Amino acid sequence: FSYPLPVNEPVLNYAPGSPEKLRQKKVLEELKKKEADIPMYIGGRAVRTGIRIAINPPHERAHVLGYFHQGDKKHVQQAIDAALKAKASWEAMSWENRAAIFLKAADLIATKYRPYLNGTTMLGQSKNIYQAEIDSACEIIDFLRFNVHFLSEIYKQQPISAPGIHNRLEWRPLEGFVLAITPFNFTAIGGNLPTSAAMCGNTVVWKPANTQVYSAQMFMKILMEAGLPDGVINLIYVDGPTLGEVCFQHRDFAGVHFTGSTGVFNQIWTTVGANINKYRTYPRIVGETGGKDFVLAHRSADPDVVATALARGAFEFQGQKCSAASRAYLPSNIADAVKRKLIAQIETMKMGSVEDFSNFINAVIDEKSYDKLKKYIDNAKKDRKAKILVGGNCDKRKGFFIEPTVIEVRDPKYVTMCEELFGPVLTIYTYDADQFEKALTLVDTTSDYALTGSIIAQDRAAVELAVNRLRNAAGNFYINDKPTGAVVGQQPFGGARASGTNDKAGSMLNLYRWLSARTIKETF
Ligand code: NAD
Repeated sequence: FSYPLPVNEPVLNYAPGSPEKLRQKKVLEELKKKEADIPMYIGGRAVRTGIRIAINPPHERAHVLGYFHQGDKKHVQQAIDAALKAKASWEAMSWENRAAIFLKAADLIATKYRPYLNGTTMLGQSKNIYQAEIDSACEIIDFLRFNVHFLSEIYKQQPISAPGIHNRLEWRPLEGFVLAITPFNFTAIGGNLPTSAAMCGNTVVWKPANTQVYSAQMFMKILMEAGLPDGVINLIYVDGPTLGEVCFQHRDFAGVHFTGSTGVFNQIWTTVGANINKYRTYPRIVGETGGKDFVLAHRSADPDVVATALARGAFEFQGQKCSAASRAYLPSNIADAVKRKLIAQIETMKMGSVEDFSNFINAVIDEKSYDKLKKYIDNAKKDRKAKILVGGNCDKRKGFFIEPTVIEVRDPKYVTMCEELFGPVLTIYTYDADQFEKALTLVDTTSDYALTGSIIAQDRAAVELAVNRLRNAAGNFYINDKPTGAVVGQQPFGGARASGTNDKAGSMLNLYRWLSARTIKETF
């Protein structure tokens, strides 16, 4: 069975009066009216514990969208048992039939559930419709279809044989269960992590962030409607340490696919390392973690291009993208022009609820994130080494709103140039336009992360220099563009250093991690 290279799912534009806009508005109203009661799904069964946690839209914190049922250690164990029970028949199922389930799920999203997955993402994560459409419609659909294609290509790979010898590679799943741990900020990551491992014949325990449950359970229901057998993916809502206590002690723990912060991933490595003698096999540890993504402009850059790369790269998705531009290096000859143009663009950004489709900026995810961002901004306001160029106001009365904020610094190692803030806050530093080499060194050495970055220049020699010198500073590198917006199948995504294991989501590289090949030699 071979699945040809798909095309990327087209992005709908939700223009005023368009049928997709009218439908989306209706579904938002429907979702807001009902109070959802959200179970876990273990072995195909809906599990309700009675411990109900409220889900509130970050932009309207007094509203209750529903409640999810929180589990404990016992449910983690049940999810592992269900995954192990389902393994033999899932692994034995033909690839054609396994693939058909994920392709059907992609079609169900494209044609039937798109406004529901978008709606739960918009309300649960405070994303506007354009952001939700890219995340919970197009990117999820692309992950499902492209991964089927990539896996078809992998399965075709076979070693050569020789006279009297027949060699083959059997592409087997890992032995045991795979754990998928997903962050709040992308419904598509929740869509990709459990399904990419499951596609390869693995069975999965999936734990999303509490702030992602609202869209995650919608995706799970779509998978079930598409025919996913019981126990192949088990969706549970527990806190991280509870999950770790059971999973990382288990003999059949075969691997973890994690996306989230660097700190949590480091804890996972440490725990797995400490328990290494308990496992049947060396677990695969795959992590996509934090970022401190840069935009470096050269003296030959067009100020309009730089300003737009910064406005979109830093503030779309409220800056809550691992790839968001959060530190900028401007050359002195164009710095004033870029700042003027950037401020002008920011002043046009409307902030508010996702239900008004003209709002560009929505709320940040929760109070913890709001408080953290506000603290960085308040400190910058007090610090002589920093200056708030635009924005800086925060208001959490109705929702967790942080204005798009630009901090200008004279010290290139100022704290907001180095640490991941994960919100709509950009820090800029102006360097001597004649000292491009020094700026390259600064970009490379200021942060421990290496996820995404851009060079903006019209001078080809400067582009080449940046591509070469910054080869370890970003797993995804952009020329004359913002450092965000990787498209499945076009820009495989992932970073190195403190940004992860660089196993490139949305590519064959990632799928190889969920396979364990057996070589079979037969002599005639
Ligand atoms: P987070 O690290 O707080 O949480 C991620 C997941 O880990 C959640 O499901 C959480 O419940 C779980 N978790 C927390 N403690 C745990 C523990 N001790 N053991 C096991 N699991 C635990 O991250 P977040 O706030 O949800 O997401 C934002 C972070 O994710 C940012 O750092 C961002 O850069 C990163 N991110 C990276 C990528 C990428 O591709 N590199 C993509 C998206 C987000």
